[in-house]
Amino acid sequence: MSKLNQVVTEIVEEMRAREDRGIVASYIPELGRVDPQNFGMTVIDAEGSLYSGGDCETPFSIQSISKVFTLTLALGKIGERLWERVGREPSGSPFNSIVQLEAEQGIPRNPFINAGAIAVTDVILSGSQPREALGEIIRFMQFLADDSSIIIDHTVAASEQQHRYRNSALANYMKSYGVLKNDVEKTLGVYFHHCAIAMSCRQLAMAARFLAHAGLNPATGCSIVIPDRARRINAVMLTCGHYDGSGEFAYRVGLPGKSGVGGGILAVAPGLASIAVWSPGLDAAGNSHLGRIALERLSQRMGWSIFGP
Ligand code: GLU
Repeated sequence: MSKLNQVVTEIVEEMRAREDRGIVASYIPELGRVDPQNFGMTVIDAEGSLYSGGDCETPFSIQSISKVFTLTLALGKIGERLWERVGREPSGSPFNSIVQLEAEQGIPRNPFINAGAIAVTDVILSGSQPREALGEIIRFMQFLADDSSIIIDHTVAASEQQHRYRNSALANYMKSYGVLKNDVEKTLGVYFHHCAIAMSCRQLAMAARFLAHAGLNPATGCSIVIPDRARRINAVMLTCGHYDGSGEFAYRVGLPGKSGVGGGILAVAPGLASIAVWSPGLDAAGNSHLGRIALERLSQRMGWSIFGP
């Protein structure tokens, strides 16, 4: 058995047995129904071999992890001009905070807090109808993961749409500063639906291969983005990917990563592997409790932290 195979197997065993599982998000009622006992993990190495365990084939709500892929698409559309509409500094605030927006004239701190991701979605929507923009996002995910079965969970999207008060406030506030160009309800509709994409650990790790390999899909040699862009998306994931738990994640795991309130975390070991973990219970900062611990174990045992072994 290879070392990676053994490490993944042991981590999955440990995580499935642990009793400290965090708290499942309930602010979107539909997410609150997920069983906290789930744990899944997939690691794909540079040769394309998959190391998986637990509930790695069960689709879950990727939520904010979708923001990595919408950022990639928006950069593809308008390039560096994106940074006129959204910053790239860690926020130090919860994912749905509104306070900074007022102090900073409606420009969100980064593309991974809700306000920033809504601004990025607005860029993707420009020039199309919501249905077309969503089609573009879902086809991009299917293409990256090489899997046409990936879909949007419309029940989760509807649940979030119904409880959209905070995100509506963020979007309307940005609209008042001209940061959003499209109809607020249309932009929010696309945002809620891309957050509601359901994917398994295996599908997510497949979709992120280009970030681990300088913008290339290592299986096909196909270029998704130039190396410079992959490196910079990874940089934003490292500094901003875990809300106001980003410093702690860098300290403990030392890999670029993005979490979502569905309990998933996508992480990238540059040049080595793409990784997805899922455990629905969250810690106080809204990041998967066991997901983070699993990644800490993996990075330590494999010596993968970008800061050194
Ligand atoms: N769709 C969620 C929201 O806007 C995303 C939350 C998250 O995963 O951070 O509240």
